Amino acid sequence: MENKRQEFMDRVDGKQSELIALTQELIRIPTLNPPGEFYRDICEYLENRLSTLGFTTELVRALGTPGDSQKYPRWNIVARREGARAGECVHFNSHIDVVTIGQGWTKDPFGGELEDGKIYGRGACDMKGGLATSIIAVEAFLETWPDFNGAIEISGTADEETGGFGGVAYLSEQGYFSPARVQHVIIPEPLHKDRVCLGHRGVFWAEIETHGRIAHGSMPFQGDCAVRHMGAVMAEMEASLFPALAKKRTDMPVIPEGAKQSTMNINSIHGGQAEPEAGFTGLPSPVVPDHCKMIVDRRFLLEENIEDVEAELRAVLEKVKSERKDFRYDFTPIHSVIPSMTAKDAPVVTTVAEAIEAVMHKKAEYVVSPGTYDQKHIDRIGRMKNCIAYGPGILDLAHQPDEYIEVIDMLDAAKVMGLALAELLTGPSPQN
Ligand SMILES: [Zn+2]
Repeated sequence: MENKRQEFMDRVDGKQSELIALTQELIRIPTLNPPGEFYRDICEYLENRLSTLGFTTELVRALGTPGDSQKYPRWNIVARREGARAGECVHFNSHIDVVTIGQGWTKDPFGGELEDGKIYGRGACDMKGGLATSIIAVEAFLETWPDFNGAIEISGTADEETGGFGGVAYLSEQGYFSPARVQHVIIPEPLHKDRVCLGHRGVFWAEIETHGRIAHGSMPFQGDCAVRHMGAVMAEMEASLFPALAKKRTDMPVIPEGAKQSTMNINSIHGGQAEPEAGFTGLPSPVVPDHCKMIVDRRFLLEENIEDVEAELRAVLEKVKSERKDFRYDFTPIHSVIPSMTAKDAPVVTTVAEAIEAVMHKKAEYVVSPGTYDQKHIDRIGRMKNCIAYGPGILDLAHQPDEYIEVIDMLDAAKVMGLALAELLTGPSPQN
């Protein structure tokens, strides 16, 4: 086994130029989301690549999911390679979409330039580098252990950056992540090559609207200013809610440190006259705002429950109402995700942690992501609990200009992934 493991790792090193080329080619397919472009193209590219490795491939369109249209169909690919005999299935899931380019690039965002051992481009680290890494890992694994047990699956899925409804959520509903079909899931998000990511915090988004009465701005006493009412809401949040959130600490190993507590972001506030278009040189008109809307983005912990999170926000509004004349509001929850955390002794966790130690000669670090990713759907809809994120790259680079992935990190992570496969899929078959 030790010889085999060394043989496998040497094979990965021998595939360095193949890994670079694959990553570059994936970056060069500009799968921007929104709107969700070139999904079909990248799925067909992956289909060709994985077919040559003996995978059976399925292209699945998430018909009717948010954003799916004739112009921007939500395509996904699921590829499966059966082993020589019965056993468990290990699934690598990567999202194929990338976020908008943004300002500040010095490299071509879709060029896949290689410089000083780094490959640059939108999606290089989040997460086409991770996808390429898993493919190269599987390729070297198949050459080393051709008669493995069970099965290997690789999927490329749509829309993770916009909630995953046309991707992993849809596939989960169709049974692709049911425990009967898949026993271990690894999501190669860029959490760093020596970390096992167990899950993520929860999310609760709501819209708060305050109501007023329109009037001429020279006689505000004849109206009722909705923006001032919202100011009172914010003052109460500062006085009671934010300090209370800062006191809620979690035992989840969330990174970075600042996210080891409950947090809330005020995502936006709009009240009164809309921002004028760029170039408009006129003056605003004098009007008392009759409504004001705020979107809040509350991130919560495993130790909290979503009903309490909602009740806490409602309590802020009720307190303001009890103290403030004519205060009227609406409160509308718009989105929520329950926290997900895989047990530290789950088989996929211990296997990947051991592989990290073997490759990196240091203990694996266990982390939880401050934001969510597709694990939520695999957990809630797929009912598959044995799932982690493990992949090369630095999370802080995701969504930034000049995003890159280091080739050495991809090689190391490919070795970890392949050794984990060897542990789970070779040796005596569990069925024998
Ligand atoms: Zn990602």
